[in-house]
Amino acid sequence: MVDCIDVLVIGGGPAALCIASELIQRGVAVQGMASNPVDVPWTNTYGIWVNELESLGLESLLEHRWKNTVSFFGAGGSNTEDQPTNHGIDYGLFSCAKLQRYWLSRSAGMTWHQDSADRIDVDSDYSIVVGISGKRHQARMVIDASGHCTPHINRPNQKPIAKQAAYGVVGRFSKPPVKSGQFVLMDFRCDHLTAEQRNKTPTFLYAMDFGKGLFFLEETSLASAPAVSETVLKQRLKQRLAKSGVAIIEVIEEEHCLFPMNLPLPDFKQPVLAFGGAASMVHPASGYMVGSLLRRGPGLADVLAAALKQQPSLKSAVLVRQGWQALWPTELVLRHRLFQFGLNRLMDFDETMLRRHFTSFFQLPQKDWNGFLTNTLSLPQLMKVMLHLFIISPWDVRRGLVLGGKPSH
Ligand SMILES: Cc1cc2nc3c(=O)[nH]c(=O)nc-3n(C[C@H](O)[C@H](O)[C@H](O)COP(=O)(O)OP(=O)(O)OC[C@H]3O[C@@H](n4cnc5c(N)ncnc54)[C@H](O)[C@@H]3O)c2cc1C
Repeated sequence: MVDCIDVLVIGGGPAALCIASELIQRGVAVQGMASNPVDVPWTNTYGIWVNELESLGLESLLEHRWKNTVSFFGAGGSNTEDQPTNHGIDYGLFSCAKLQRYWLSRSAGMTWHQDSADRIDVDSDYSIVVGISGKRHQARMVIDASGHCTPHINRPNQKPIAKQAAYGVVGRFSKPPVKSGQFVLMDFRCDHLTAEQRNKTPTFLYAMDFGKGLFFLEETSLASAPAVSETVLKQRLKQRLAKSGVAIIEVIEEEHCLFPMNLPLPDFKQPVLAFGGAASMVHPASGYMVGSLLRRGPGLADVLAAALKQQPSLKSAVLVRQGWQALWPTELVLRHRLFQFGLNRLMDFDETMLRRHFTSFFQLPQKDWNGFLTNTLSLPQLMKVMLHLFIISPWDVRRGLVLGGKPSH
């Protein structure tokens, strides 16, 4: 048994590194437990609207940045229409190495135990985390940041869980699959699909030019329960490329993406705190989370550090409750519910309705759709934006938004 530290963070991904570094910066005695060494390179591609990073002064963490950011929804209702919707806001991809280094350098010297948390025993004054190695670690509180699949965090057993699924390729192609210097958030054109395929769960292409002849293309299902299989996604990407006469010359990397979009919020009375995917922090309508970690990590760390400093004898359960309140205040819970409501409606939409919905969505003022996607609008603002969206939506989409269910054409 080691000395009782203040906080033990479980996990070695973005959420764990973020919250550990913010706590260390505030003088909290923190240790971590991660299944793998915390400097093992991350392989996911993490994207973000650049203004989210600029507001934090962290745009230097990007590896790629695009000015020409577009989507294709077939605005006039024709799925073959090539007219792009211009977003007018820069989009970026993180350099995973820089992001990881940013957090690791802010937590330099911190002890990370290489082990997997097997069990967490909670007492009123401290918790003990038992690793699969059998080693025990004692802390006044535990923050589980071990991702969406954690078994240590209780949440309502709400089914079904919708998942975002994507299959991506970084590679070289026989001709440019997107325009030079372009970033495509969503290409919903679907003239490459058969009528039968078009009746199934819609998917879109997320694509970008990396320069030097390299492109990243990812066939994506926004959210579906059950999740769209990788076989279907691969097949659709192949068909999409074949229709445009593009062949893959070289696959440099593949991305296999699958994560829950509508994971229920955790039980806020439980004696273990969570952060990141484990705390259901993924934006239920967009699937983004890294910006949210960077924004919400410091606030949570402020509250925990102040509580530890001002009331050294505070019971562990009280400390954790303060953490849950700071992470999920009522305002954020209500916003989350609105996003979940929106996602549930969208999951019922077929491809035509989705294209019509997104056409209206991106006709909203830029600050409104961007604030919606980044979860940076206040609750009253969000409600106003959702009402505005309803007003500018075509009748069939309005009907779907109110009544749900499959549309009738
Ligand atoms: C392929 C992919 C692409 C994504 N793209 C984006 C994007 O573009 N933008 C965006 O904002 N979000 C994106 N997301 C969503 C979200 O930001 C990521 O899922 C993010 O990685 C979640 O971070 P996390 O730290 O909570 O969990 P994870 O990244 O899953 O990290 C969990 C960590 O905990 C460790 N661990 C697990 N169990 C234990 C245990 N018992 N004990 C100790 N350690 C444990 C794991 O080894 C891992 O290191 C993407 C997700 C995926 C899967």
